[in-house]
Amino acid sequence: MATTCRDEVLAAAKAILRTSGTHLFSPLEIVEYLRANGTDYAESTIRTYIVSVCCINAPRHHATKFADFERVGRGVYQLVVREALQTMAPEDNPYHMALAQLKKVTDHMGLDEGIAQILASPKRELTVHFPVRMDDDSIRVFTGYRVQHNMARGPAKGGIRYHPGVNLDEIRALSMWMTWKCALINIPFGGAKGGVCFDPKALSSKELERLTRRYASELSILIGPEKDIPAPDVNTDDRIMSWFMDTYSVNQGYSVPGVVTGKPVHLGGTVGRAEATGRGCAIIARECARTIKLPFEGATVVVQGMGNVGGIAAKTLAQMGCKIIAMSGSSGGVYSNKGLDPDRVIAFKKGHDSFDGFPDAEPITNADLLELPCDILLPAALEREITSQNAGRIAAKILVEGANGPTTLDAERVLLDKGVFIAPDILANAGGVLVSYFEWVQDIQAFFWEEEVINQRLERAMVRTFADVIETASREKLDNRSAALLIAVKRVAGAIEARGIYP
Ligand code: NAD
Repeated sequence: MATTCRDEVLAAAKAILRTSGTHLFSPLEIVEYLRANGTDYAESTIRTYIVSVCCINAPRHHATKFADFERVGRGVYQLVVREALQTMAPEDNPYHMALAQLKKVTDHMGLDEGIAQILASPKRELTVHFPVRMDDDSIRVFTGYRVQHNMARGPAKGGIRYHPGVNLDEIRALSMWMTWKCALINIPFGGAKGGVCFDPKALSSKELERLTRRYASELSILIGPEKDIPAPDVNTDDRIMSWFMDTYSVNQGYSVPGVVTGKPVHLGGTVGRAEATGRGCAIIARECARTIKLPFEGATVVVQGMGNVGGIAAKTLAQMGCKIIAMSGSSGGVYSNKGLDPDRVIAFKKGHDSFDGFPDAEPITNADLLELPCDILLPAALEREITSQNAGRIAAKILVEGANGPTTLDAERVLLDKGVFIAPDILANAGGVLVSYFEWVQDIQAFFWEEEVINQRLERAMVRTFADVIETASREKLDNRSAALLIAVKRVAGAIEARGIYP
């Protein structure tokens, strides 16, 4: 198969992935995409290509299965996406992004080469292929990961993501960012992340439960309240965490609430956890506005993604007096320069597939939403939403990264040149892991705190960490992301040096 075709198919897969938000597409969609972009391939060529790529790149035991392309169907398309993601250009690969961010800081501080190498390498990576019985009695094999990046400062901590785009490099990047986030907000955890590559919307609740329980069992060799504590991330919530906690506990023979955070409050969860990440983002947005002397009351805000992070951030910012002018989900959003009521937008989306018919507002695509003129832009969906392609058209004064890794390196350079004030992800969304830490502490002590105490401690930690980052940026003449990373890397490197290299 010609290399050009391979590259074009991968580029098409990436583009479809970016624009449609769905990852289960047919060869015909790739053909149509290529045709619209001036290249004509027969559908059969694309099908042959997909099989050949999967057979060559898939592990041996998969290769024979994937050869029977028509029978395997969907799984093959998912593999194409994973392959597409893993062969991305540096700007597109979140792990390359994370490594480049780290290198900038270790070079700046003149860190010992050996310690820098430790920090650049994930400590443990587990890939699991596990079977799940589907409702129609068939068996489907899923692929999941758990990466523990660094545990020098304490047990590993990090969310579990269910998404068709999940791949090892993404999980590596997210685990590394978790290490820096925990160190920056100064809690005694290392960084980890996990995920399973599938589309949760395509599974029934029972299938989702069986998948979660099996994945939790597969991870049981790594996780535990003293070892590695998962939490919710994209497409996972308190229900998934309950199944995780129950599966682990059943296998231990007693209840272990501290094995995961983000649980329901009646199961050892904490008040304030569900709101913590979005609330933390809102606090950071307020601090950013104060720093650049932008009036916060009435500031216009655009929020991409309205799940746990984006939804709560929008509601909190509205309560604080900001004007939310646009919000979106994976299939698009709504815009009104008069301002939106986040509760109404979220409630409408729950009952409808799209925003058609949403009163007093215009529909808007995700691409256009990011480029709206506004005071505060808050991406709260996935990585790499702001790239070199659209950074020049971003018209916000402040960027608060609710999502992890929403801004590529090239895009960040453009934004900094334009004078956009950036609150980097490891600072902006650190409220979630901070309150997860509070949950873990409460579970271990079996003593629970009032919501007021949680929120006061969240507010205090976010404000103090923001001030540390701004002071470091000014003293070291660094951008905010590098300053935040510098604080975090110094803490982790200091822990490694203090512990020494065994043996
Ligand atoms: P979620 O599953 O609750 O919500 C994700 C939202 O993004 C949904 O509204 C979905 O429709 C939307 N979305 C998906 N693709 C999109 C696209 N292409 N354009 C616009 N919207 C899109 O997930 P979440 O927990 O809110 O996580 C969002 C981001 O925040 C992720 O990057 C996650 O890693 C990060 N984060 C989450 C937490 C947490 O506590 N949940 C903590 C820190 C960071």
